[in-house]
Amino acid sequence: MSILVLGGAGYIGSHAVYQLIDRGEHVIVIDNLETGHQKAVHPEAIFYQGDIRDKTFLYSVFEKESIEAVFHFAANSLVGESMEKPLKYFHNNVYGMQVLLEAMVEADVKRIIFSSTAALYGEPAVVPISEDTITNPTNPYGESKLMMEKIIKWAEKSYGIHYVSLRYFNVAGARGTAEIGEDHRPETHLIPIILQTALGKRSHIVVFGDDYDTPDGTCIRDYVHVEDLIDAHLLALDYLEKGGTNTVYNLGSNEGFSVNEMIETARKVTGKDIPTQKGERRQGDPSTLIASSEKARKELGWNPTRSTVQQIIQDAWNWHSSKPNGYEKGELG
Ligand code: UDP
Repeated sequence: MSILVLGGAGYIGSHAVYQLIDRGEHVIVIDNLETGHQKAVHPEAIFYQGDIRDKTFLYSVFEKESIEAVFHFAANSLVGESMEKPLKYFHNNVYGMQVLLEAMVEADVKRIIFSSTAALYGEPAVVPISEDTITNPTNPYGESKLMMEKIIKWAEKSYGIHYVSLRYFNVAGARGTAEIGEDHRPETHLIPIILQTALGKRSHIVVFGDDYDTPDGTCIRDYVHVEDLIDAHLLALDYLEKGGTNTVYNLGSNEGFSVNEMIETARKVTGKDIPTQKGERRQGDPSTLIASSEKARKELGWNPTRSTVQQIIQDAWNWHSSKPNGYEKGELG
């Protein structure tokens, strides 16, 4: 099949491209390289550098390539930044989705696998969180993804575009070969920051809040291995291929770990001292997010085999320790 991967130079998108190519698919990547890295693009993928909000550019790619399905990873995804720059999130994410769907309608492409997020549940009243939990985002990032889901839903009704929306919990880890991994600039995510501290590239990690209503006072998240996450995308593609209807799945490990527990596990995996400092709560952070991903397991046959926190941290550590400067030379953000 011929698959267009938007954001295929980014952390999660690049892992999708590698697995699609492993499976023998023909892959076309679009990325504006604002946060992605050219070196993360698989050498066998066809690469176009450009922005999905640029209609002329996007339409030209749909015209040149015969695309059968779209994987959409091209979005801004930082909770903290979204609180400071909400309009950036609505423009890139929501408007980007609108232009993409217009191009898909024009080119008669009917299938999309969409990267959604647990952030659209906000502060849930009940955990674990199932797909029918009320959506109530506590930050513009989650709100923008919720709006994107709604736009696809209406596009389905009028234009027959079939979708699977995958609501990610905390994605981490790296491909087992450590060829690709996580490299954000600036880095804001917990596991890379812990591991950069283990490498001595940071003096300490700041724990954002220790007064949450959780057993050790630090936030609890559900960590899912990026390779397991991509398995679910491939299963979702097969599901649409077989005529599956539009649907939404939570992707997580069904277990929660606190920030302190993650730091402790990283100390064991790396054998390094990882100094910490207490900090203020980060605005927009819910205290506890734990998935119920029973629906994906049952309906897609998803079987995440790498999503223990030890395996996630081990694979991330292999990447960070073999590429201490990530994809680029010089300082990390
Ligand atoms: N976190 C932290 N210190 C950091 C980065 C993150 O304490 O330097 C916490 C953050 O408050 C959240 C958890 O780690 O509770 C996971 O944050 P991350 O940014 O990795 O993912 P998010 O949950 O925002 O998607």
